[in-house]
Amino acid sequence: MHRHPDDDPRRQFRDMEATLLLCPRCRVAVPVRKRLLLVLPEGDKFEYVCARCASTCGTKIERPPPPQFVR
Ligand SMILES: [Zn+2]
Repeated sequence: MHRHPDDDPRRQFRDMEATLLLCPRCRVAVPVRKRLLLVLPEGDKFEYVCARCASTCGTKIERPPPPQFVR
């Protein structure tokens, strides 16, 4: 029996675990969830939340790609 990997229901879960950050409460590197916090003029601010205890492990501002200068 051959199963296509895309049919694996755990695929999304594995993708979610791709990012590991040190959690201040768990004191180990934990899988985190990325959550959009704020939309700022300089970019979108994301928060990384521990999947175990829901503590904030870090934040990051993703800057939008530079605007294209149209001639
Ligand atoms: Zn934690």
